[in-house]
Amino acid sequence: MLEIKNLEKYFGEKKVLKGINVKINDGELVGIIGPSGCGKSTFLRSINFLEKPTKGQIILDGDDLVDNNMSLLRRKIGMVFQQFNLFENMTVLENISFAPIKLKIMTEKEAKKRARELLKQINLLDKADFYPQELSGGQKQRVAIIRTLLMQPEIILFDEPTSALDPEMIGEVTNLMREIAKNGMTMLIVSHELNFIKRFCTRILFMDDGKIIEDNTCEEIFNNPQSEKLQKFLSKVRNI
Ligand code: ADP
Ligand code: MG
Repeated sequence: MLEIKNLEKYFGEKKVLKGINVKINDGELVGIIGPSGCGKSTFLRSINFLEKPTKGQIILDGDDLVDNNMSLLRRKIGMVFQQFNLFENMTVLENISFAPIKLKIMTEKEAKKRARELLKQINLLDKADFYPQELSGGQKQRVAIIRTLLMQPEIILFDEPTSALDPEMIGEVTNLMREIAKNGMTMLIVSHELNFIKRFCTRILFMDDGKIIEDNTCEEIFNNPQSEKLQKFLSKVRNI
């Protein structure tokens, strides 16, 4: 279980996360929605320490990760980004196997073997020696996702994983996410694709102004929004 207690984040004087409290159970598929600039990315980035929390606790299976070192933490919580964040100067195979080798989780041989197996599963084995610029957006994002999987995380955070993709590539990425979910992965997903969130997630957090305003089932969030803020957000989004 991931428990976030009283998480606050300042950028200089600016308070961006204003005390977030939430518990995520193993295997939950949690969508995070809310207006642009409300702190969704900062929230995800703070959970895996790409941003250092100003205050609060992030507790994974009883261990407070704020007290732990980066490499241990990064093994347990993976992250997938809108812009893929692949290393452009490395091949696909090197991208996927780099972190487990560097962190000495696997030998080079093991990591590359496992990377090939995962590439095969997503039908991209023939791209193992290609560089990211030679791939489509959907292929890049699938490589980024299996790169995260190779670290055997307990939780994967997705920050708008399909926002940079052409519509015809969104399906191949969401299908891979479905496969991973089926195996019981815990996932937190920030997305503007409300239809995807609605179908994929079991629970939704609505954020506004650095706080979680509503935390409920998909059904309740979309059909029975409690706060005026969520009602407003949904009506705006539906009018686009
Ligand atoms: P969202 O992902 O919901 O659009 P963000 O978490 O990216 O929101 O940003 C929340 C707020 O924090 C915004 O006002 C943004 O400008 C600010 N912010 C984000 N990152 C930084 C940073 N590194 N330095 C200063 N301000 C930041
Ligand atoms: Mg964002």
